[in-house]
Amino acid sequence: MDKKTLEKIKETLLFEKEKLTKELNSFAEKNEKIENEYDAKFPNYGDHEDDNASEVADFESDLYLEKTHEQSLKKIDQALLRIKNKTYGICENCGKKIPTERCLAFPTASKCMECKKRAI
Ligand SMILES: [Zn+2]
Repeated sequence: MDKKTLEKIKETLLFEKEKLTKELNSFAEKNEKIENEYDAKFPNYGDHEDDNASEVADFESDLYLEKTHEQSLKKIDQALLRIKNKTYGICENCGKKIPTERCLAFPTASKCMECKKRAI
């Protein structure tokens, strides 16, 4: 992969990371002890029964979003690490090159299509 493409992918990853971090910060608190771990805050809308019900409902969807965002952040960090270690674009399973088009479409991809298919 040429340097320019790699730079572009790195930019995409960093942009995505910032976006996810911002979103997480809006409803969750960063866990200071563990990297890329967040704890969803329990919302407080009021003390009515209706308020309490929507608090619980929103908290549950926040928890779900928190988990998926965390996973995405971890994948982004792993991809950034692979760029740093110059192993980016190489399938972690079979060692073959991942096509550039696939890397551009899925910057966090760590496996080639064949291995990905086999994993599912
Ligand atoms: Zn592979």
